[in-house]
Amino acid sequence: MDEQLRVTDCERCGGLVDSRSRIVNGVGPTDADLLFVGEAPGAQEDQEGEPFVGRSGDVLDEALRDAGLARPDVRITNCVRCRPPENRDPTSEELENCRGYLETEIDRVDPEVIVTLGKVPSEHLLERDVAVTSEAGELFDAQVAGETRRVLVSVHPAATLYDRSQEATFAATIERAGEFTDGGDQARLGEF
Ligand code: URA
Repeated sequence: MDEQLRVTDCERCGGLVDSRSRIVNGVGPTDADLLFVGEAPGAQEDQEGEPFVGRSGDVLDEALRDAGLARPDVRITNCVRCRPPENRDPTSEELENCRGYLETEIDRVDPEVIVTLGKVPSEHLLERDVAVTSEAGELFDAQVAGETRRVLVSVHPAATLYDRSQEATFAATIERAGEFTDGGDQARLGEF
């Protein structure tokens, strides 16, 4: 089934076809309870072909571990699958071009919660302005491809690197996400 989620030869964004080394697809189980959605691949991700493997990935991995989760247990993807030049934000046209791939992934994985890592994915899925720092850790409903999805807003892991005060917010958000996995408190509550 993972093969069906793999985008292999997309050329919808002329600029990104030139700047990318490869298309960076999502990783992790296709039936994961948690789906983490970032913005777009950075340099390291573009080289290795996997989302969140650079410094941001180290921060994410550590927070997952602290919350009793492991990277192989969660699914991780991006709004846009090709690295934008100079790590600029993806344009709204690029987000739109890649939207169908993300919707297919959300549909197939059918996660308990989508964790949006930073402003771009939060605004992309909630379809409104998001003040990430103040809304981090909050859950919202979003309509994605005709389904209601639970979205947990998070600061981007990289934010903790340049603003240490974001570390606790990020850790608490990942901890909250863990409550929606098998064995998490929220999941256990569902049994009663
Ligand atoms: N930042 C993102 O938003 N996505 C990645 O894959 C890496 C860094």
